[in-house]
Parts: sequence; structure tokens; C-alpha cells
Amino acid sequence: MASFDAIIIGGGPGGYVCAIRCAQLGLKVAVVEGRETLGGTCLNVGCIPSKALLNATHHLHEAHENFGKMGLMGPAPTVDWPKMLGYKDDVIGQNTKGIEFLFKKNKVTWIKGWATIPAPGQVKVGDDIHTAKNIVIATGSESSPLNGVTIDEKTVVTSTGALTLEKIPQKLAVIGAGVIGLEMGSVYARLGSEVTVIEYLDAITPGMDAEVAKTFQRILQKQGLKFILGAAVQGVDTTPTGATVRYKRKKTDAEATLDADTVLVATGRRPYTAGLGLDTLGVELLPRGQIKTDAHFATNINGLYAIGDAIIGPMLAHKAEDEGMALAEILAGKSGHVNYAVIPGVIYTTPEVASVGQTEEQLKAEGRAYKTGKFSFMGNGRAKAVFQGDGFVKILADKATDRILGAHIIGPMAGDLIHEICVAMEFGASAQDLALTCHAHPTYSEAVREAALACGDGAIHA
Ligand code: FAD
Repeated sequence: MASFDAIIIGGGPGGYVCAIRCAQLGLKVAVVEGRETLGGTCLNVGCIPSKALLNATHHLHEAHENFGKMGLMGPAPTVDWPKMLGYKDDVIGQNTKGIEFLFKKNKVTWIKGWATIPAPGQVKVGDDIHTAKNIVIATGSESSPLNGVTIDEKTVVTSTGALTLEKIPQKLAVIGAGVIGLEMGSVYARLGSEVTVIEYLDAITPGMDAEVAKTFQRILQKQGLKFILGAAVQGVDTTPTGATVRYKRKKTDAEATLDADTVLVATGRRPYTAGLGLDTLGVELLPRGQIKTDAHFATNINGLYAIGDAIIGPMLAHKAEDEGMALAEILAGKSGHVNYAVIPGVIYTTPEVASVGQTEEQLKAEGRAYKTGKFSFMGNGRAKAVFQGDGFVKILADKATDRILGAHIIGPMAGDLIHEICVAMEFGASAQDLALTCHAHPTYSEAVREAALACGDGAIHA
């Protein structure tokens, strides 16, 4: 038994960042993690492995589609799937070991095992009860179940199974056209699978700026992905050779089926708080299972806090990290804060898609007077050189003040470009502030500047 200033349950991006910051601020801190390795969903079965596979298959796609256009001749590479999975596992290992190193460096204690909270101020792991002034729940999330669908992680899989399939499916059905479904769908489409995405809504990537979503769908279709939109999945039946997805067209009520070797269920995630003993403690939850917290991440129980996917907000690693850092500052007597208005979202397909702030649809719904500056990557020399002119940067700014309200990018390195706009928004910048900032030539970033110019007197290369 040991006593700490803070015990954090969960070693994912929320938990490990909170722990490291607590230690840096002089607190005695421990993390309880039940997995074999640190890093949570993100490093083990989420962000990192999916990006490794996206990277490998992006190069494969480039070799097949674009090398010849650049005079790079010769046979395109073939896929050694076990080796590709090995590369992915190696990337995971490097990252999870990195967190272990950071724990040692910062003197964060890792208590290995699954935690329960028998009483306020106490954390039980195995037979040991540890005490802490503050307990932080950072237990993350799990895939949401879908009615009529039984997951076996072999034929009918969640994203976790999709990262370790024994072989590349000939036909892959993806249920859900959100970020995870489209990223993994892209991976397998590039590997040669026939990928069909079934989505309940009438558009892909719900919540995304509609113009971006439309362009994104068109580009993905060009890459071979098929979409069945406005369809409600009724169930999935496994067959000797794979599985059959039963779905109903929402408009007509017509029923139809789709056969596949593998079905990926990517219909969202829900907070994971099982086994903590929250019921007995009387911790208040929101209707969708998130732990209810105040603006300082405090639950209704004294000394008990929660962050990351386990609470409300976008289920993103960087949102969890920011909350972890802010809470550590609060626990150390400083003032921690997260600006939820400026949390970027990225989809790591080719092209990448990135957004921050409000969409046009949200601004219209609010009745806000805004202006739009849009610039096509067709006018950007670098984008054309990598065959990615087929996208754009869109900046939305307040009509009267020119203050940037949101930005939406589909194009090369969108996930990196968006941060210039995030910083600008944090400083309350106007579109003109961006437009008057010198941008190096030739860079993709020039498209951001051009979109900012388009909010004013006009872009130059449009
Ligand atoms: P988690 O990372 O889920 O960590 C929680 C940890 O708590 C887990 O390791 C779990 O084992 C542990 N735990 C739970 N209960 C207990 C207990 N009782 N005792 C001990 N340990 C416990 N986000 C992005 O921002 N970018 C991306 O590109 C991205 N890609 C993704 C791709 C996939 C396929 C998936 C599934 C998710 C992706 N995400 C991405 C989301 C991201 O992984 C999560 O938002 C992030 O991991 C949440 O961090 P967290 O710390 O709240 O929880």
C-alpha cells in the first residue's frame, strides 16, 4: 500500500499526460494501467497503429498510381501482409516504451493491474489498497455495440480486429462512415480489398463541413470505395465464407444485403468505466454514460476527477491530453484550462481532411453573419506536384470583425496546415492577420494564406 498526491486510472493520452504534468509540478503521482503496455487505446489499438498502416498503404498507392507519372518505372511493390503488421507492431512498441521511459524520467509510478475505487480517496489494485488526495479517472472508451451484430474480432470486427486481420479481405464491408471507418476502409482499399461503406445518415463524416464531406466522398469514390448512404443496418449474419450485412434503405424501407469476407463495425465509441465501482460510489453519469464533471473536471465526489474519452466532448487523443494537462495544473494549485472552441479534428486519409472551429452549417443555424474565403489546391504548385490539387482550404470569418471562426481543409498535409489556423484562433486573429503573414514559397501553407486573402480583397492565384 502506498500513498500519493494523485492516482490516475488509465495510462492513455489523458492519463499519462496528466501524470507527467503532475510530476513536473511536484506532485507524487501513480498511474494504474491494466494493459501490458502504456499509451491506452491511442498508442496500442488506435491512432498510432492506424496511422502506421495508413502510411504503409499510402506509399503502396503512390507506387501503383503515381510513380509512373513521375518517370519512376519498374514493378510496383507487392504486399507482405505479416511484415506490414510487424512494422505496425514495431511502431506501437517504440511509442509505448517511450511512455514507460517518460514515466521513469519523471518519477511516475506505474501500478500494473485493473483498478477499482472502493471508497473516496482509495484505489484498489489486486489485493492492495492505495490512497490518494486526488483520484483521476482516465479509463477511455470502447467500441459501441450495434443491435443485431455480434463481434468475434475475426470476421465481424471492431477497429481493434481490423488492425490485426489474418489476411487482407477480398471484400470488406464497413458499417459507419466516420473517421475510423474511412481511415481503415482506405487502408484496405489501397491493399486491394473491395470496400463498401454503409452509413445511416445521407452523408459521410457526420458533423463535418458539408462541402468538404461532399468533396471527400467524391475523392474516396475515385479511389475505389463504394458508399451506401441512408441505410440502417438490421443485422450481420456470419456465413461459412464470411458475413452478410442486412440493411434497410431509410427512404424506401427496401431491404437489401451485402456479402463480405470481413465486416468492420465502426459506428462509434462509448465511455469505458466498467468495474470501477462508480455505482457504489454514487458517481453521477450523463445519459450517454460519460462521467459528469464540472469545468474543472471534478465529479460529484470530493477528490474524484475524470478526463478524456470517459467524459463529454470529442473522443480525440489531443483533447484527452489537453484535459490531462489542465487538470494537473488545477491539482497543483494553478489554473488549468481547455479551449474547446479550438480543438482540431483530422482524418489521415489521402488527401487528409482537417477542421477547426465552426462549420458553415453551424454558423447558418446560429444566424451569424460570416464570410467565406476559399482557395483550391489547384492553384498551389506543391499540391499539383503530388497529384493532390483536388481539394481546398476554406476559412470562415466574422463578416463585421474578420475574426476567424473556423477552417476546413481537404488536401495535402491538411492535418498539419490546420495548426496555423488554430494558433491564429487562439490569439483571436482576423483573416487579414493570416493574409498579411509572409508564407514561404512553394509550400502547401500558401493555400491557407490564399484562403485568408480570399476573405478580403481576393486570392492571388485563384
Ligand atoms: P484511452 O486511450 O482509451 O486509455 C484508457 C486506458 O485506461 C486504457 O489503456 C485502459 O486499459 C485503461 N483502463 C481502463 N479501465 C481501467 C481500470 N479499471 N484499471 C486500469 N486501467 C484501466 N484520436 C486522435 O486524436 N487521433 C487519431 O488519429 C485517432 N485515431 C484513432 C483510431 C482508432 C482505430 C481508434 C479506436 C481511436 C482513435 N482515436 C484517435 C481516439 C483516441 O484513441 C482516444 O480519443 C484516446 O485514446 C482517448 O484517450 P484516453 O486517455 O481518454 O483513453
